[in-house]
Amino acid sequence: MTEECLICAKHRGEGPLVGHHVWADEHVIVSHRLEGDDGTTFLGYLFVESRRHVPSWDALTEVEAAAVARAAWRAARGLRAELGPEFVFSAIVGRRVAHFHQHLFARYQNTPEQYSWMDSAEWPGSKRGGLDEVAHLSARLAVHLD
Ligand SMILES: [Zn+2]
Repeated sequence: MTEECLICAKHRGEGPLVGHHVWADEHVIVSHRLEGDDGTTFLGYLFVESRRHVPSWDALTEVEAAAVARAAWRAARGLRAELGPEFVFSAIVGRRVAHFHQHLFARYQNTPEQYSWMDSAEWPGSKRGGLDEVAHLSARLAVHLD
Protein backbone atom coordinates (compact mmCIF):
# COMPACT_ATOMS: atom_id res chain seq x y z
CA MET A 1 0.00 0.00 0.00
CA THR A 2 2.76 2.41 0.92
CA GLU A 3 4.34 1.65 -2.46
CA GLU A 4 1.31 3.17 -4.18
CA CYS A 5 0.99 6.23 -1.94
CA LEU A 6 1.43 9.44 -3.92
CA ILE A 7 2.76 11.33 -0.90
CA CYS A 8 5.31 8.64 -0.03
CA ALA A 9 6.36 8.82 -3.69
CA LYS A 10 6.56 12.60 -3.44
CA HIS A 11 8.86 12.28 -0.42
CA ARG A 12 11.14 10.15 -2.60
CA GLY A 13 11.06 12.91 -5.23
CA GLU A 14 8.81 10.95 -7.59
CA GLY A 15 5.34 11.20 -9.05
CA PRO A 16 2.78 13.85 -9.86
CA LEU A 17 2.65 15.54 -6.45
CA VAL A 18 6.31 16.53 -6.24
CA GLY A 19 6.55 20.08 -4.97
CA HIS A 20 9.28 22.49 -4.04
CA HIS A 21 11.03 21.60 -0.79
CA VAL A 22 10.69 24.26 1.90
CA TRP A 23 11.76 22.62 5.16
CA ALA A 24 11.90 19.27 6.93
CA ASP A 25 12.79 17.64 10.20
CA GLU A 26 12.66 14.04 11.38
CA HIS A 27 8.82 13.99 11.52
CA VAL A 28 7.58 16.60 9.06
CA ILE A 29 8.13 17.73 5.48
CA VAL A 30 6.91 21.14 4.30
CA SER A 31 6.71 21.80 0.58
CA HIS A 32 5.30 24.39 -1.77
CA ARG A 33 2.70 23.21 -4.25
CA LEU A 34 3.69 23.34 -7.90
CA GLU A 35 1.19 23.70 -10.70
CA GLY A 36 1.99 23.15 -14.29
CA ASP A 37 -0.59 24.21 -16.79
CA ASP A 38 0.92 27.54 -17.81
CA GLY A 39 4.31 27.22 -16.12
CA THR A 40 3.27 29.37 -13.19
CA THR A 41 2.20 28.53 -9.67
CA PHE A 42 0.09 30.31 -7.08
CA LEU A 43 2.61 31.67 -4.58
CA GLY A 44 1.78 30.75 -1.01
CA TYR A 45 0.29 27.25 -1.01
CA LEU A 46 2.09 24.81 1.27
CA PHE A 47 1.66 21.22 2.33
CA VAL A 48 2.71 20.08 5.78
CA GLU A 49 3.05 16.29 5.74
CA SER A 50 4.11 13.60 8.15
CA ARG A 51 7.12 11.64 7.03
CA ARG A 52 5.45 8.47 8.28
CA HIS A 53 2.65 6.99 6.22
CA VAL A 54 -0.45 7.35 8.36
CA PRO A 55 -3.93 8.00 6.97
CA SER A 56 -5.10 10.79 9.26
CA TRP A 57 -4.35 13.42 11.88
CA ASP A 58 -5.49 11.20 14.74
CA ALA A 59 -3.18 8.40 13.59
CA LEU A 60 -0.06 10.48 14.28
CA THR A 61 1.81 9.92 17.52
CA GLU A 62 1.67 12.77 20.02
CA VAL A 63 5.26 13.66 19.17
CA GLU A 64 4.48 13.71 15.44
CA ALA A 65 1.33 15.77 15.99
CA ALA A 66 3.28 18.32 18.01
CA ALA A 67 5.94 18.49 15.29
CA VAL A 68 3.28 18.96 12.59
CA ALA A 69 1.49 21.64 14.62
CA ARG A 70 4.72 23.53 15.26
CA ALA A 71 5.73 23.40 11.59
CA ALA A 72 2.27 24.51 10.41
CA TRP A 73 2.22 27.37 12.91
CA ARG A 74 5.65 28.57 11.90
CA ALA A 75 4.85 28.21 8.20
CA ALA A 76 1.64 30.19 8.68
CA ARG A 77 3.58 32.95 10.39
CA GLY A 78 6.03 32.82 7.51
CA LEU A 79 3.27 33.22 4.94
CA ARG A 80 1.90 36.13 6.96
CA ALA A 81 5.27 37.83 7.18
CA GLU A 82 6.37 37.26 3.59
CA LEU A 83 3.11 37.78 1.68
CA GLY A 84 1.01 40.03 3.91
CA PRO A 85 -2.17 38.11 3.07
CA GLU A 86 -5.71 38.80 4.18
CA PHE A 87 -5.84 35.29 5.70
CA VAL A 88 -3.71 32.20 6.05
CA PHE A 89 -6.00 29.20 5.78
CA SER A 90 -5.31 25.72 7.08
CA ALA A 91 -7.23 22.58 6.28
CA ILE A 92 -6.86 18.89 7.01
CA VAL A 93 -9.08 16.81 4.78
CA GLY A 94 -7.32 13.77 3.37
CA ARG A 95 -10.17 12.08 1.57
CA ARG A 96 -8.27 11.53 -1.68
CA VAL A 97 -4.79 10.58 -0.49
CA ALA A 98 -4.54 8.51 2.68
CA HIS A 99 -1.27 9.98 3.93
CA PHE A 100 -1.51 12.79 6.45
CA HIS A 101 -1.20 16.21 4.83
CA GLN A 102 -2.28 19.67 5.92
CA HIS A 103 -3.04 22.41 3.42
CA LEU A 104 -1.77 25.85 4.35
CA PHE A 105 -2.40 28.70 1.98
CA ALA A 106 -2.62 32.44 1.69
CA ARG A 107 -5.62 34.48 0.64
CA TYR A 108 -4.32 37.65 -0.92
CA GLN A 109 -5.55 41.08 0.09
CA ASN A 110 -8.63 42.19 -1.85
CA THR A 111 -9.58 38.72 -3.07
CA PRO A 112 -13.23 39.15 -4.12
CA GLU A 113 -15.89 37.55 -1.95
CA GLN A 114 -17.03 35.40 -4.87
CA TYR A 115 -13.91 33.30 -4.26
CA SER A 116 -14.61 31.06 -1.28
CA TRP A 117 -11.81 30.22 1.13
CA MET A 118 -11.18 27.01 -0.81
CA ASP A 119 -11.02 28.87 -4.12
CA SER A 120 -8.72 31.66 -2.91
CA ALA A 121 -5.86 30.47 -5.12
CA GLU A 122 -8.10 30.67 -8.20
CA TRP A 123 -8.39 34.46 -8.11
CA PRO A 124 -6.43 35.80 -11.10
CA GLY A 125 -5.23 38.73 -9.00
CA SER A 126 -3.26 36.39 -6.72
CA LYS A 127 0.51 36.38 -7.01
CA ARG A 128 1.83 33.70 -9.32
CA GLY A 129 5.33 32.86 -10.35
CA GLY A 130 7.60 30.39 -12.06
CA LEU A 131 10.05 27.99 -10.45
CA ASP A 132 12.48 30.79 -9.62
CA GLU A 133 9.84 32.72 -7.69
CA VAL A 134 8.71 29.54 -5.90
CA ALA A 135 12.33 28.79 -4.94
CA HIS A 136 12.84 32.35 -3.73
CA LEU A 137 9.66 32.32 -1.62
CA SER A 138 10.47 28.83 -0.27
CA ALA A 139 13.87 30.03 0.89
CA ARG A 140 12.30 33.02 2.62
CA LEU A 141 9.69 30.78 4.29
CA ALA A 142 12.32 28.29 5.44
CA VAL A 143 13.85 31.00 7.62
CA HIS A 144 10.60 31.11 9.62
CA LEU A 145 10.66 27.35 10.16
CA ASP A 146 14.15 27.01 11.64
ZN1 LIG B 1 2.29 7.57 2.21
